[in-house]
Amino acid sequence: MRIALLADIHANREAFEAVLARLDKHRIDQVALLGDIVGYGPDPAFCTEKAMELVERGALGVIGNHDAAIDGDSSDMNSIARAAIDWSRGRLDTEHRRFLTGLPETQRVGDALLVHASARSPRGWEYITGPQEAERSLRATDARFTFVGHVHKPQLWRLTGLGVAIGHEPIAGFEIPLARSFVWLGVIGAVGQPRDGSTAAAFAILDLKRQSIQFERVPYDHFATCRKVREAGLPEPLATRLLRGR
Ligand code: ZN
Repeated sequence: MRIALLADIHANREAFEAVLARLDKHRIDQVALLGDIVGYGPDPAFCTEKAMELVERGALGVIGNHDAAIDGDSSDMNSIARAAIDWSRGRLDTEHRRFLTGLPETQRVGDALLVHASARSPRGWEYITGPQEAERSLRATDARFTFVGHVHKPQLWRLTGLGVAIGHEPIAGFEIPLARSFVWLGVIGAVGQPRDGSTAAAFAILDLKRQSIQFERVPYDHFATCRKVREAGLPEPLATRLLRGR
């Protein structure tokens, strides 16, 4: 069973389409959307409809903080994120909003738990930025694998027998075996707004049979998306961020 893990699409049509086109070259049995389909980017309706189509055809999806904010409270967000959510609300119809806010907090597939931010508290939106946060998520579940998004920087953590979380930044394009002696937490980079210094869209392929994961990058026309962000009148940092990958 090969599962494509896609996180943080963030209303970036060009990045989403580039990743989906790349998936055609992999033998994929299942797509999993790890949340934040909307927010920040200029194409919330397109990306929501694409996600609805995928879910209708069997994809799994979990809710992200930006998806939840569409119909709820965005007061805990920074002013840029909030401005983009306010802008997105006007571009989504009732059906879009019902889909986004109705996504479950977690999903299970085989030994894997899917959640947007951390297994510790799915609606707490905690960022996995270091060993302490990784350890808290790893200890909060009995799943052997947990996959999250939210941070927009690819990371792979494992909990050792001594109860210590050890992590690294995975290099794209290499299959990494997920040894049975550890419990694993994969932070999948963002499709639509990478923050690790690369402008390319990030995703990963989990192979449950081979017990391995491969992180991937796909360049896309981020200049086009950047133009659309500006034309939409969204906050300027959301445009420059795509050009810098930070
Ligand atoms: Zn996000």
